[in-house]
Amino acid sequence: MVLGGKLRLKNSLKRRSECGNPCKLCSKACPIEAIDKKGNINMNECFYCLDCQSLYYNNYKCPPLVIKRKKLEALRSKHVKLKERLV
Ligand code: SF4
Ligand code: SF4
Repeated sequence: MVLGGKLRLKNSLKRRSECGNPCKLCSKACPIEAIDKKGNINMNECFYCLDCQSLYYNNYKCPPLVIKRKKLEALRSKHVKLKERLV
């Protein structure tokens, strides 16, 4: 039962292709250094504080999400300006 729960949690801890290379934010944030240089989580050390998951979903901190958010904001701003010109 405990093993099943641990396996489920392992599968739910998200990683991105950018984790480890080039981004090291999560490995620096992990309080027990359970994330290696390649961005992989050592599930034998992880105590599920979920700090890395908080970063994973944060579009103001996780660099790939920051880039996406900024692109989206730029598109929205462009759209608004175009709309204003048409009015
Ligand atoms: S901040 Fe985002 S890209 Fe960087 S290591 Fe964490 S999840 Fe990966
Ligand atoms: S859940 Fe917490 S302990 Fe586990 S890898 Fe992420 S930051 Fe480290």
